[in-house]
Amino acid sequence: MDNKIALAGNPNSGKTTLFNQLTGARAKIGNWSGTTVEKKEGELKHQGKELKIVDLPGTYSLSAYSIDERIARTFLIEEKPDLVVVIIDASNLERNLYLVSQLLELGQNVLLDLNMIDLVRKRGIKIYTEKLSKILGIPVAETVASEGEGIQEIKDKIIENLGNKSNTLKIDYGELEKSISSLEDFLEKRDGNIDLSRRALAIKILENDQDILKKLEHSDYFKEILEMYHNIEAKFSEDLETFIIEKRYAYLKGVVKECTDKSFTLEERITLSDKIDRIVTNRIGGIPIFLMFMYLLFSMVFKIGDPLVGLVDGFFGLLSEKASLLIEFLGLPPWFASFISDGIISGVGSVLVFLPYILLLFLGISFLEDTGYLARAAFIMDKVMHSLGLHGKSFIPMLLGFGCNIPGIMATRTLESNKDRILTILILPLMSCSARLPVYTLFAGALFPKNQGLVVFSLYILGIALSIIMAKLFKSLFFKGETTPLVMEIPPYRLPKLKNILLHMWSKSVIFIKKAGTIIFIAVIFIWALASLPVGVEYASEQSIIGRIGEFLAPVFKPAGFGFWQAAVALIFGILAKEVVVGTMGTLYGVGEEGLSSIIQQQFTPLSGYAFLLMILIYIPCIAALATIKRETNWKWTGIAVFYTFLLGWFLSVIVYQFGSLFIK
Ligand code: GDP
Ligand code: MG
Repeated sequence: MDNKIALAGNPNSGKTTLFNQLTGARAKIGNWSGTTVEKKEGELKHQGKELKIVDLPGTYSLSAYSIDERIARTFLIEEKPDLVVVIIDASNLERNLYLVSQLLELGQNVLLDLNMIDLVRKRGIKIYTEKLSKILGIPVAETVASEGEGIQEIKDKIIENLGNKSNTLKIDYGELEKSISSLEDFLEKRDGNIDLSRRALAIKILENDQDILKKLEHSDYFKEILEMYHNIEAKFSEDLETFIIEKRYAYLKGVVKECTDKSFTLEERITLSDKIDRIVTNRIGGIPIFLMFMYLLFSMVFKIGDPLVGLVDGFFGLLSEKASLLIEFLGLPPWFASFISDGIISGVGSVLVFLPYILLLFLGISFLEDTGYLARAAFIMDKVMHSLGLHGKSFIPMLLGFGCNIPGIMATRTLESNKDRILTILILPLMSCSARLPVYTLFAGALFPKNQGLVVFSLYILGIALSIIMAKLFKSLFFKGETTPLVMEIPPYRLPKLKNILLHMWSKSVIFIKKAGTIIFIAVIFIWALASLPVGVEYASEQSIIGRIGEFLAPVFKPAGFGFWQAAVALIFGILAKEVVVGTMGTLYGVGEEGLSSIIQQQFTPLSGYAFLLMILIYIPCIAALATIKRETNWKWTGIAVFYTFLLGWFLSVIVYQFGSLFIK
């Protein structure tokens, strides 16, 4: 019979790195049953034993507020692993030990791994490992997972401690202790069917743990338990849950003080990181600094990206030239020549041309992320978000949404309340994903050559501003009530590794390239066909099928200043994927990026062009995003997302165009 080992730990503590070291990165990836959260399993063979390693979702606690926490907890309680290896960032001991304390209270057999010992050493902190092991009553290992240091030792310790008798941690809850024992006594008499110690169960009940309460709901003594809970709650002057959490932290603070030397005390921990934080997370300066970073990012993207885009464009021009020569040489029919040059090369090419911008944008974002700055940005925004009735944690999915809305929508799973999740999902499409960037760049380059960076920056900021306004509106329409409180994690600053940044950049950009090769490719062929039919019609003229569809819809957009059929068609097909807007224009006009610019200059004024970009920013999420919204919520919210984004986009571009026309001729 295999032994089962679970890996638990806070996000970013090095869990995945250790998992790869232990299993040789041979992982079976699946989903936790009933969810779409990733499940990773691997095998470790050591000292003649075969162990199954399960990587639990990274969590800060086991309070069963979020899906991730619930999965981790259900697994621990129901599957009873032989050993739980908790990986913690040892340079952030106190915060990381919280999860350990909860696991121990639940009576798990724990092996503690102090990871990132290199950072501890670098800061000159000394951790008395043996003492820590003694106080907590569990084995402790030390690793630098990223360098493979301490891996053999931890493997040995895993084997050594399989199936230990669990050592339940007993934290002193002070004034609450009496109530805990009376609840325990009651549970003793009744004998529950949950596999937890009575004390653990009593504490969970006092924490008002919804999952545990639900499990007890069907027992015939549930009413009495609730009654006891309410009596204790009424007698107690503080919120029970908060009180318990604070007691745990107070206990851990003591443990950390006991097990580290004094260079870990507060005065000396005011490191460079804290000094930087005082500036960038400053109450007054924080937001302007954040905006400045974003602005610098976009300026950099366009300064460096411009010549690169020129190169790629030149390449496609050359390709198109060579292709027509080849087609002529082979004597292929003219419709085929049009298919290759108008359809594929102009369509897909006009999208791929923007690859340098995408790469640079993600290079910048990965850099900010890996240094630890983005987490601070979320912290700064937390205050703003709270004052607007939105949850501070929502900002992280929103940041992800800048890359692509889909991972952003999925990341809302970390939000505890369903209400906050739906609210965040609804406004996520307003985050300007990278697929919209090619459209912005094309138009901004053609119509605002001097202020390209500023125009694009303004769209991103507008997206954020609108999302905050809409959140407030939706909240008052659909979700009245208060938000859940939050402790925001602030990771330490790290000097990012070039390799990691490049890897992150690549993994984010690869979606763009894949889309160009698949959905955009297919969409472009489809559009080309609609523009070529019926047979005999002039390519991409008003008499073609696509021209007629466009003509039919164009009047809708007339008040917004772009009431011609190509724009209408581009918007419709843009729902497939936002890059398709550029691809459609490339196919319909059948020219390279430079030529496309001059046609845009003829068809749009700067004002109507900006109105069009507003529409692109706001209107209907792409199909893949809609499918994700449906999966994460239901048809009702998906429908609301489609309607409100279309109406908002339309109204805003009409207002901007009409109002602007009063001033600009
Ligand atoms: P997870 O999200 O908890 O699984 O954490 P990861 O395994 O993805 O690690 C997060 C980051 O910490 C990565 O950039 C790792 O390279 C880095 N890392 C992991 N272990 C160590 C370590 O022992 N020391 C240092 N300095 N970095 C580490
Ligand atoms: Mg991980």
